[in-house]
Amino acid sequence: MKKQNILIRTLFATALVVILASCATRQPAPEQPLRLYAFNCGVIDVLDISIFKPGMDKREQKTLANTCYLVVHPEGTLLWDTGLPDALVKIPEGSTFYDVFVMRVTKTLAAQLKEIDYPPETINFLGISHMHGDHVGNADLFPQATLLIQKEEYDAAFGASPDKFGFDPNTYSSLRSNPVKILEGDYDVFGDGSVMIKRTLGHTPGHQALYVKLPQTGNILLSGDLVHFTDNWVHKRAPSFNFDKERTITTMNEVEQFLQANQATLWIQHDKEQNADIRHSPAYYE
Ligand SMILES: [Zn+2]
Repeated sequence: MKKQNILIRTLFATALVVILASCATRQPAPEQPLRLYAFNCGVIDVLDISIFKPGMDKREQKTLANTCYLVVHPEGTLLWDTGLPDALVKIPEGSTFYDVFVMRVTKTLAAQLKEIDYPPETINFLGISHMHGDHVGNADLFPQATLLIQKEEYDAAFGASPDKFGFDPNTYSSLRSNPVKILEGDYDVFGDGSVMIKRTLGHTPGHQALYVKLPQTGNILLSGDLVHFTDNWVHKRAPSFNFDKERTITTMNEVEQFLQANQATLWIQHDKEQNADIRHSPAYYE
């Protein structure tokens, strides 16, 4: 009997040691750190750049990049802008719009997302800077994602005269069926301040930008079409086709102060030269 007691005690003590040892060595579940991927979502040749710089450089050509981004956060994924339609990949010479934009796609967004194991159905949030065709081109790939959009943009896009704002409802009709969160200001997407939608009105009625605080890289603001290239940012110029030019300039000045206060860098989505220095997917920023 005594021998049996000793055996039971020994077994119990051994089990306790094993349990304690396993507790001590168990690591917390690896948390996916915040990541930002940039995608090539097309190229736009502008045949007369003066529409972006009123009264200047008449009939001069300029090529613009067209960039989309994926934010991977421990609590979910957000795609920022969807680029030109993937279908353009079948037209290598490009497709001309309004006689001034020649738009080309060399690699589809769907393929770029699959390449990094985030296929379209894994996207939780869809952040669209605004509803112009070069930003909503692949919106229909993400019917399950919650659309994050300012009220003024939603009302303009789905109201009586979307063409008044340069919107073509055929390019984003699927978004009417998405789950949607209508915003009336800045919005903290994951609740921890690391990924914020910034209300930046002017280019369109409810234009917005995306602020991402990356632990290693630093703070970045993705421009949307707040500005299209560095020269216009430096000189605070607004394109002739903007919804509200004065408001655009006011917003640009406010954003400049915000960037300074937060030591943040502006990534201009259409700036070809700046994009040449940014690592694109499958590389990423943390
Ligand atoms: Zn635009």
